[in-house]
Amino acid sequence: MSIPLAIYWIKRDFRLHDNPALTQALQECDNVVPLYILEPSFLTAPETSAFHVHAVTDALHDLRKKFQKQKKDVAVIRGAVISTLELLYKKKKFQKIYAHEEIGVERTFARDRAVIDWCKHKNIDFIELPQTGVFRRLTDRNKRHLDWKKFMLTAALPAPTNLEKCTIPKEWKGLYLPKRKSVKLDDLGFKLTAEQKKQVQSVSETAAHKTMNSFLTERGLAYRGGISSPLTAFTAGSRMSVHLAWGTTTGRTLYQKTQARIEELKILKAAGDPNAGKWSMSLRSFLSRLHWRDHFIQRLESDPSMEFRALNPAYEDLEYDNNPKFLEAWKTGQTGYPMVDACIRCLQTTGFVNFRMRAMLTSFGCHTLHLSWKLLDHPMAKLYTDYEPGIHLSQLQMQAGVVGINTLRIYSPTKQIIDHDPDTIFVKQWVAELRKHTPEDIIGHEENPVKGYAPPMVERKEANKEMRQRYFGIRKKEGYRKIAAKVYEKHGSRRMKPKKKKKTVSKKTTS
Ligand SMILES: Cc1cc2nc3c(=O)[nH]c(=O)nc-3n(C[C@H](O)[C@H](O)[C@H](O)COP(=O)(O)OP(=O)(O)OC[C@H]3O[C@@H](n4cnc5c(N)ncnc54)[C@H](O)[C@@H]3O)c2cc1C
Repeated sequence: MSIPLAIYWIKRDFRLHDNPALTQALQECDNVVPLYILEPSFLTAPETSAFHVHAVTDALHDLRKKFQKQKKDVAVIRGAVISTLELLYKKKKFQKIYAHEEIGVERTFARDRAVIDWCKHKNIDFIELPQTGVFRRLTDRNKRHLDWKKFMLTAALPAPTNLEKCTIPKEWKGLYLPKRKSVKLDDLGFKLTAEQKKQVQSVSETAAHKTMNSFLTERGLAYRGGISSPLTAFTAGSRMSVHLAWGTTTGRTLYQKTQARIEELKILKAAGDPNAGKWSMSLRSFLSRLHWRDHFIQRLESDPSMEFRALNPAYEDLEYDNNPKFLEAWKTGQTGYPMVDACIRCLQTTGFVNFRMRAMLTSFGCHTLHLSWKLLDHPMAKLYTDYEPGIHLSQLQMQAGVVGINTLRIYSPTKQIIDHDPDTIFVKQWVAELRKHTPEDIIGHEENPVKGYAPPMVERKEANKEMRQRYFGIRKKEGYRKIAAKVYEKHGSRRMKPKKKKKTVSKKTTS
């Protein structure tokens, strides 16, 4: 029996291509209304920043343009989800809601549970479909990789061709934003400076497509090696994280396009293309990261309490000093460590820094400034335009060392300059106080502070030593091994081919 009216509830999935929820809704229903609810709880959440609201407004604008080209529109309503649904339902009844599963924080999880209850109460079908290789109620961790591969190899869906079914009922007129009115950042109480506007990535299905193409055909050659430096990662990295985080494309689309490009490269290699081999290696590394992505998000799905507690409960006893002065210096890029300050200031303007520097910022905050990862969570999330709770929390905990199944890595910000910015171009770009100084002086600042820039706010080596002692104190406690084994069983990555046995945690590591 055909369904007269349904809602496609847009969350972090602003796209037409590979959209299982919209595609299925259009197959099963006569009329489907794409609905985006601008929730006050999102706008006021402690982890939300102008970068995130920019992502939403940008992506929504692009999606609406696509519907408007077909003389349709997304119904955009500002309000809490339940009261919005209630209001719409009162004016005209609908029978189904389609949405994608969202692996988010407690706030969005609670909201989704409330929607399930509301739907039950109203006898409305709430259909939630997966859009990534993250599995709800995963029982066998060992099978995850195979399930993931199967999902990634299932053909990505084309954009629906029957958007003529997306008519907003006349009874809802006045409740949603008029066609000509776009959602503006300023109207929502957020602002980006002129410089931020220039530097922040566009987040839309159109931009995702362009970024993906430029990566797969032009920029990707420099990927391997290029993503370690904060200078080169801006172009050598795929820069697809914002698109994956806000759903302007899917991992599956990227996976399949990359595989197709790798096949093309095989032919080019056989024909003697000198770069084809390097290209393939880069793209294979990229594919592994797409796997990591879902692997880490799966952790949050399987253990939502990790938003509040260390995955390895033994580290709940790890002592931090949580000095508010240190937290403020970390947040504002005023620590007196050039690479740390450069990365924070870069993030404040661009909303992006590469993986290695994010790891260093976490390590510096936790191991050197003795700030708990819990204190870094929201300030850090605000700085990333690509904020994705599952990756963010997993990486934050991993770099802080509180998962306890990986090597404890303590980063030296000075070594990062030597290894990844030896001419101090990146540091000088973001720390104006250091522009007059030579690379040697900047690298030596930790030992011999230069004039005109803050001296290091803590003695790093001593502070790290102290934290290492506290950390290994926890590891020596009775029962620790059992707890770590349990964490591995639930969350550890499984290799396809077994590797030689290796110690899980080394005593001293400085990166
Ligand atoms: C403390 C910390 C917090 C982080 N928070 C986020 C976050 O909120 N959102 C986010 O997308 N990434 C996060 N990352 C991972 C990583 O830094 C970014 O994904 C990457 O820098 C994005 O750039 P790119 O798209 O050019 O990545 P590429 O190197 O081109 O990688 C391709 C994609 O793979 C995924 N990916 C890459 N590295 C990782 C990784 N280590 N773990 C999981 N997935 C990965 C991302 O989706 C990325 O877009 C975090 C890392 C750390 C250390």
